[in-house]
Formats: sequence, structure tokens, C-alpha cells
Amino acid sequence: MGPNVDAAFTKNLPKIELHAHLTGSITPQCLHEIRTQRRSDDPDLTLQDPLEAMSKDKTWNIMTFFPLFSKYIYELCSTPASIIYSTNAVLRDFKEDGVVYLELRTTPRSSSSMSKDDYVNTILSCIDSSPDRNVLTTYLILSIDRRNSPKEAMEVVDLAIKYRPSGVVGVDLCGDPSKGDVSTFKEAFHRAKLHGLKITLHFAEISASSSLPELKTLLSFKPDRLGHVIHVPETIQKQIEEEQLGLELCISCNVQARLVEGDVADHHCMSWIKTGCPVILCASIPVPNPSQWLISGCRRTMSVSLPVN
Ligand SMILES: [Zn+2]
Repeated sequence: MGPNVDAAFTKNLPKIELHAHLTGSITPQCLHEIRTQRRSDDPDLTLQDPLEAMSKDKTWNIMTFFPLFSKYIYELCSTPASIIYSTNAVLRDFKEDGVVYLELRTTPRSSSSMSKDDYVNTILSCIDSSPDRNVLTTYLILSIDRRNSPKEAMEVVDLAIKYRPSGVVGVDLCGDPSKGDVSTFKEAFHRAKLHGLKITLHFAEISASSSLPELKTLLSFKPDRLGHVIHVPETIQKQIEEEQLGLELCISCNVQARLVEGDVADHHCMSWIKTGCPVILCASIPVPNPSQWLISGCRRTMSVSLPVN
């Protein structure tokens, strides 16, 4: 008989998290504290309280959480102080969840008070100066958003190359899967590969982003890992299996965001585990209902993780 798999066991289990969006990992309570602080500096700040805007009584799915991120949370966390406060809180939360190795991902963004370069540098400084760095090893993945122009995508790769010695290990493709033309990012991912950066891609999240041409284009970027892999046609599944790509399967995200039908027990992870591809169970974007977050856990040895050294 194995140990009882209860909340305490799961929390104490040393875990690896490879698919965590920095901004998506900030709790509503932390965002509430940031809003309180920002309103004390600027009483004219009109943003709604996160505890209301992200209420668990609302219906969250892929159509509702992307606008929440791109309009609301990005605006709230747009100052150096809010980036530092939220990054430190996220690192602390992962450590308290028993995560020992973490790859955080984020799309570099600028605001009136910081450049994209400042943004990346600020996050890396938080990681570097974290009081928990001896128990939680953290690296950064920079994300290209599907709505980015080819020039913006190249800017992300340039930042990843610049900050590779400081802990950036890879480049990701993320964002609203109903938007953008992935073929425009070919050059950017090629450049990332040339410079030794690893590549992970959000892959076949919804049927609209799962056409054969799109999936073939994405595989032509020579990714090391793929996230989600939900609506994958058989020919593409064969190629993924042949290339033994690492798969980041995000069960709680998929179920809560209704990307898959049914419940946790119906998730497609078992069909991928049978292919022999390295599989890791991840948390991904926690839909704003902390009580339902599933703590991630490593299911198989991850043979294609992305450490820099
Ligand atoms: Zn994701």
C-alpha cells in the first residue's frame, strides 16, 4: 500500500512546475493588496477591486480569462513596485506549495514607468534575491504573445538572449489561441534556437488553433516541449511521439477553463502517458478560484527540462 494521497502528502511532495505563467499565478488577495497600495499613491485609480473582478461566483472559461489578463491584471501590475511585490509573492507561494524547481513564464511588457528590458530585469532580480533560492530553484521563460508582431516577437527573443546568462532558459508562444498567425514567428523562434534557447509552445489548446497547417508550422519551430496538446490530429500525434517531445499537461487549467469536456478523471493525460513521451503535470493558469487550484506534481522524469547549466 502506498501513502495516503491527501492534501498534506501532496503539499509535502517535492514538486517541479514547468508551466506557470507569472501573472496567472498571482492570487486575488495579492492583487487586492497591490490595488490598495496603488490607490493610496493615486486615489484616482479606478480599477475594480480584484476580489470582485475575479470573483469565484463568475463563470471562467477561455473567453473570459484572456480579457481579464490583458486588460485588468496587466494594468494593475504595471509599475516596478507592483511587479516586485507580485513576483516575490508568487515565488513564496510556490515554495510554500512544496515546489523545488520552477520555470516561470511571462511576456515582457512595457508601461509608462518601465521598459520591457526593465520588466525582465526586475523579475530576474527578484528571483536572484529571493530568500528561498536555496530551496526553490527558479528560471525564467520569456513568452511571445500570439498577438505580437514579428518585430515584437524578435524583441522577446533578443531579451531572452541578453538575459540568458542571468537565468532565462527558453522562449514560449502563448496568448489567446483564437488570435494571431503563428507562421509570422518563424524567424523569431529560429533565432532563439540558434542562440541555444529552448522552445516550448502552447499547442492545440482549442480547435480553432489546431488546424493541420498551424500545428505543422509550430512543429517546424523544433520545440523541445509542448503545452496542453488537446485537439491533436493523429498524424501530428505520431510526429510528437516519434520526436518524443516533452509534454506539459495542465489538468486543473483545462478542466476549470472548460478546454476539455468532463472532469479531472476524463482528462486526456493518460493517452499521452501511453505514448512514452516525457510528461509533466502542471498547474498552468490557475483560474481565479484558489480553493480549486490543483497543486502540480511531476508524473514522470522530465528528460527535456530547461536548465541553463
Ligand atoms: Zn499556459
